[in-house]
Amino acid sequence: MKLNRQIENPAAWMETTIKTFINSSPENSLKNKGNDRVWADPLVGFSSGNNPLYQEFKEHIGPFYWTPLEIFTKTFPRLKVRPHELTVISWVLPHIETTKSDNRKQTVYPAERWVRARMFGEEVNEKLRSHVVATLQEAGYEAVAPMLSPFFERKTSERYGFASTWSERHATYASGLGTFGLCDGLITPRGKAMRCGSVVARIKIPPTKRPYNDHHAYCLFFTKGLCGECIPRCPVWAITEAGHDKVKCGNYLRSVVVDYAKSHFGLEGEAYGCGLCQTGVPCESKIPTEYDLK
Ligand code: SF4
Ligand code: SF4
Repeated sequence: MKLNRQIENPAAWMETTIKTFINSSPENSLKNKGNDRVWADPLVGFSSGNNPLYQEFKEHIGPFYWTPLEIFTKTFPRLKVRPHELTVISWVLPHIETTKSDNRKQTVYPAERWVRARMFGEEVNEKLRSHVVATLQEAGYEAVAPMLSPFFERKTSERYGFASTWSERHATYASGLGTFGLCDGLITPRGKAMRCGSVVARIKIPPTKRPYNDHHAYCLFFTKGLCGECIPRCPVWAITEAGHDKVKCGNYLRSVVVDYAKSHFGLEGEAYGCGLCQTGVPCESKIPTEYDLK
């Protein structure tokens, strides 16, 4: 049996692992002429495998949705583990300013940098997930990235439509790094123009304090009845006061944006976010206040 290397401060160790990868890896590139980076300095947070929010997500989303214990025991069926022995390690990768400012100017289609960030940035995010898992395993801590698991599946939730067995945004919410906005995006201290990721590991790390009790705490529409600036940003009216219509949004991205990216930028992928609702809004780069409204 491989022994765990004793880590004095596992939170600092994981934070350094994630930040160093993003801040120094040549993989963090838009692969454009200037070889500009995709992601700015990440945020890192932690939640316990026995956080009751994970069971609540399952009850809301559907029985197919994994708790941390479920994906861990699927991956390591011979290990006897209890939920409190697990930690979900989560991160937020904020877009750099030039990507956001290019997309802010758009009204129908995404800017090239945004498309590149969705495509090449998610490749970086995948490599980061693998890197975090490998770093933990090398030190003797079993770990799995749910999004990279062969068991990961897209599903349909009776309540929410398009869903899957694991949600990075929900893990990030449980790990104290943000709350949901009207458009379904997660508003973090670095804003909503970001992507996130997570790994479940058998390691004890003190959970990050969640500075909120409500899952909409950072959205001005829900807390103060103000804003709604993401509504007119959407070119296909997939956002209304009732929330985000995933079907309308998905149809636009798959039927229009994919072709646009190919014909205008020569980039071929299966799906791109247009990100207009994530940019040019008060919650783009920060937790918004009423003073940020137009
Ligand atoms: S733009 Fe306004 S209404 Fe939309 S998610 Fe952000 S804070 Fe909420
Ligand atoms: S990603 Fe684009 S299409 Fe989808 S809701 Fe946001 S603005 Fe609308």
